[in-house]
Amino acid sequence: MSEWTDIIDDVIDHVNLLKELGHRTAEVDAAVIAAWSAPAKRTARAPARQDSGGPASLPRQGYGEQAASAAVGSPKIADAQPEIIDPSAPALSPEERRRALAEIAERVDVCDNCPLRQNRNKSVPGQGNPDSPDVMFIGEAPGADEDLQGLAFVGAAGQLLTKMIAAMGYSRDEIFIANICKCRPPNNRTPQSDERQKCLPFLREQIRIIRPKTIVLLGGTAIRGLLDTQVGVTRLQGQWTQYDGIPVMPTYHPAYVLRFESQGDSKGLKAAKMQVWNALKLVLAYLGKSVPAPKAST
Ligand code: SF4
Repeated sequence: MSEWTDIIDDVIDHVNLLKELGHRTAEVDAAVIAAWSAPAKRTARAPARQDSGGPASLPRQGYGEQAASAAVGSPKIADAQPEIIDPSAPALSPEERRRALAEIAERVDVCDNCPLRQNRNKSVPGQGNPDSPDVMFIGEAPGADEDLQGLAFVGAAGQLLTKMIAAMGYSRDEIFIANICKCRPPNNRTPQSDERQKCLPFLREQIRIIRPKTIVLLGGTAIRGLLDTQVGVTRLQGQWTQYDGIPVMPTYHPAYVLRFESQGDSKGLKAAKMQVWNALKLVLAYLGKSVPAPKAST
């Protein structure tokens, strides 16, 4: 999948969310409209969006059709419980798990499999509870703070994620947090398809070792990366799927939620937070946990 397809999918997701929030118009720069209206400059046709082809590659049969046929702009939050195909993971002792994860972190630290290697200060393999935690959160890639500290989700988006985790009744030490890409992309751009694919084996290994009870995918890049689909986050968020027999709940990335805050869009912020929280409540329900009483507004 090309970088352009990723960008187009992100734009479509954003427009769909705005529609859900009741927006009927959007401001577009006049210069952009002028550029779009100049057909002579369009020398190549953008690759067709492959929503109809993406679901076939989703790991849970039949799920993709449901996602693809969902009405644009009104994704339903599925109340169906996920089906675990293979709950019998090869059991590693806690010590073996820690050793295996440390060995992956060492390989990540010297990895030069993709161009992101040139941009990193520190690699960010991920951290948390490796012993089959209730939840493993997976995001996109490290940002500036993460790159300096070598830890996942410690910047502004990480602070919101910490609040989300606390609202679920957990501490960060009780769950595991990782990213699709282990090195920071230049200027925090979205990791490209080939970079995701080069880095994905590390994450797959981590999941195999950790065997989380559920996975929460944060944002379109994490969804595209792990599920190998081109269906956007707006359509998939809040609906169960699975990866390697592990129930997977896709939802929005905290950075995406925070964008509403920086734009002063309180209505959008509230709605986006509510959608994420509804998805996380489904995770709690699956785990048999009651929703903790709210302590502070996120
Ligand atoms: S992003 Fe992943 S594949 Fe690329 S250099 Fe870093 S560890 Fe290696």
